[in-house]
Parts: sequence; structure tokens; C-alpha cells
Amino acid sequence: MFISIHDLELRKLEFAESIAPGVIDFGEDLVQRAPLKASGRAELLEEHHGGKNDIQDIRLVGNLSTRVELKCARCIEPVVQNLSSEFDLLYRPASTIKREEEVAINEADTEIGYYQGEGLLLEDVLKEQILLAVPIRVLCSENCQGLCPQCGQNRNVFPCNCAEKITDPRWAALAEIKEKLKQ
Ligand SMILES: [Zn+2]
Ligand SMILES: [Zn+2]
Repeated sequence: MFISIHDLELRKLEFAESIAPGVIDFGEDLVQRAPLKASGRAELLEEHHGGKNDIQDIRLVGNLSTRVELKCARCIEPVVQNLSSEFDLLYRPASTIKREEEVAINEADTEIGYYQGEGLLLEDVLKEQILLAVPIRVLCSENCQGLCPQCGQNRNVFPCNCAEKITDPRWAALAEIKEKLKQ
């Protein structure tokens, strides 16, 4: 759904969207598993600096919810999680970036996004919000045993014996001494 400046000039926009899995490409590490529901409103905030210098910001307020599949950080098995978040965002025209760079960048500005041309795609905004809401690291369970570093098997499914075969060089040296003492 395209949120256009021209529409917002006439009135605020209310939206209630349901986006099917597959419409938004989240990359390899995240799969959308349920419709993405998003609702909220968009409005224009105008800063008047006189004539051509007027700035039209788009404010987007709303919430989203969906279900996503991620990968366990230890065993890379899929982990399905419900996700929901609220947002209150401000987008400025990209054409103002240069002007603002000339002014000292203050920290509050980092919250601001930018739009190009006539407006912005709601899908792009939702994608960004979902990627922000996803935890950096998920585990299938707190006790996940992960993949065996030696044979690569998922140790939750196939407990392997590799760990027993690991010989610590220090113990190996001790074993050698023991053998010598026996002789
Ligand atoms: Zn796991
Ligand atoms: Zn193993």
C-alpha cells in the first residue's frame, strides 16, 4: 500500500492491512508464517519555513502482529515466534538530508526515517519494524545442546559420543606418565 503525500494533503489516512506471507521478502533468516496484520494511521506534519523550504513529514502511528520463523542460534532448527510491536514514526523528505547535515546532527534525529519522492510504501515500513522487533538471538529451548562441533549432528536429536573422544593434551601427558610408571 502506497502512502502518498497528495492523499495525506487532503486527509489523514487510516489503514488496516493483512499482508499474506511471501509478499514481503525478509531474507534468508526470517520466514513469515501467518498474515501480517497492521493497522494505524498516517498523517502529514508540515513545517513551515516559507515557500519552497516547507517540509512535509509523514507521521505513521500503528501496530503490527504476525508469526515468524527464525533459526535457533545453536542448532539452526526452526523456531516459530509470535511477534507484535507498536510504532510511532516520522519520515522526512530525502531532499532535506543535505540541508540537515549542514546543521550539527543531534541524537534525536536518528529516530527519523526518510522517504523519496511522492510518499512511502507501508510494506517497507512494516518490514523494517519487524526486523527491528525480532530478537537478535533465539534458542529452540534454553537447554538446546546445539550441533556437535566434531560430527555436525544435532545433539538434541542424536546424542553422539564425540565429547568422550576429545582428549585434552594435558590429560594425554598425564596418561603417558602413568604408563611410564607402570613399566
Ligand atoms: Zn536449538
Ligand atoms: Zn558428534
